[in-house]
Amino acid sequence: MTPKTVATINSTGRQAASFVRAAAAVGWNVRAQIRHRDGLVFDELSEFPNVEFIDGDLAGPERARILARLFAGVKIAFINTTHWGDEVAIGKACADAAKRAGVVHYVYSSMPDHSAFGKGWRALPMWASKFAIENYVRQIGIPATFVYTGIYNNNFTSLPYPLFQMELQDDGSFIWQAPFHPKDPLPWLDAEHDVGPTLLQIFKMGASHWKGQRVTLAFEKLTPIQLCERFSRGVGRPVKYVHGPIEIAVSIPSGYREQLEILQETLGEKRAPYFGPLLEYPREGRSIWEGHRGIEEYAREVFPIEEHDNGLRWMEDGLQTPVSERSDLNGGTGSRGPSRPMTPSGQQSLHISGHTPRSHPEGLQDNFFVGSC
Ligand code: NAD
Repeated sequence: MTPKTVATINSTGRQAASFVRAAAAVGWNVRAQIRHRDGLVFDELSEFPNVEFIDGDLAGPERARILARLFAGVKIAFINTTHWGDEVAIGKACADAAKRAGVVHYVYSSMPDHSAFGKGWRALPMWASKFAIENYVRQIGIPATFVYTGIYNNNFTSLPYPLFQMELQDDGSFIWQAPFHPKDPLPWLDAEHDVGPTLLQIFKMGASHWKGQRVTLAFEKLTPIQLCERFSRGVGRPVKYVHGPIEIAVSIPSGYREQLEILQETLGEKRAPYFGPLLEYPREGRSIWEGHRGIEEYAREVFPIEEHDNGLRWMEDGLQTPVSERSDLNGGTGSRGPSRPMTPSGQQSLHISGHTPRSHPEGLQDNFFVGSC
């Protein structure tokens, strides 16, 4: 029997790359659109003999040709659009191409439009475009499932990026400042670790199982305070949550600035739930995939390596005050004592996939942001 062939776009992005790894590893053929062949993630995915790359930029004039090649003979697809280019036009073109090809299960990575809930909340623009695409997919009638992704664990970085900066303090501890109420639950997802296996299972269950449903990809439900406690246990340092405005210390594109301003108002000041009032988590995600990586494991095993690869060296220094002696920090409840170097020297070439933000070939360009909602 011929193995399945699945199509993906933006295939070096964190969601799609996670799925490409899982699908290729179990022997499926993958047709993977990419913009260019640079970067760690491309190098890694190109090791799979059953991944065929379709080169080209979906934001450019070659879109129709790229999509015709991508979907030729394909019956299942995972499509995650991004805000680069006209997202809605790209999303609609993907859906049209999939319909023409006779795709029988189309999984689209959507997000909510908070203005649709009738509660006076404003839509987050970078999410509302996905919701518009979801509606289009429903309208043209492809058998589809819509996944809604939580906040990625690896949004966190000590670099001065807005919203998810774990700001390193002089004493070696971290502070995360964000506009979320300290006691409001938020959905968390390790995109690189958990998107792939969950999607594999969603595809195996098939479109008729899901009947157009929305499925939450979020494996932990944690308030910012709970998040910091777990992050602290993982990283072995105090981590304090500060409920405060989003600080923008670097220049960012105007569209992203607007997204952050509305996020602060809608999810922060108005305390709208991240997925809106209707979607449940993390039970659903956990019932599909049981092996998720939580934030504590991420902070222990991945965060220091990503930071090291981003040129940061805090993990090689001891703490001035051990965690066990700090009572002033809400994350400082651990009994692990002072941290030790977590990334021994000589591991600079240690390769894990998809580090944010500098694993992206575009990551060093001005105005490029990953690591955001
Ligand atoms: P990513 O952020 O890891 O990578 C960016 C992707 O965009 C790459 O595949 C890149 O090739 C592609 N891209 C397309 N055109 C580009 C261009 N002109 N310049 C630079 N890159 C370009 O991708 P991801 O995390 O898999 O998906 C991003 C989407 O996920 C965004 O739309 C975001 O809103 C959404 N999302 C993110 C979070 C989060 O917590 N980070 C949560 C929910 C939803």
